[in-house]
Amino acid sequence: MAKIKVNQETCIGCGSCASICPASFKMINGKAKEIKASVAKITCEKEAAEACPVNAISVTE
Ligand code: SF4
Repeated sequence: MAKIKVNQETCIGCGSCASICPASFKMINGKAKEIKASVAKITCEKEAAEACPVNAISVTE
């Protein structure tokens, strides 16, 4: 189980996370939002977090 969280104050709305990992991130009003607060198994979420230019995504196992 891993917790997924986007810091919406830090997010600059670049869209990378939603493009890399659409199963877990979507864009709402120009900001990314996690689709679920947690996932049973990490797939693309870490890659999306690493791609975020402002480190707004946390993935906690
Ligand atoms: S990659 Fe980071 S800055 Fe870009 S939309 Fe996602 S959370 Fe926001």
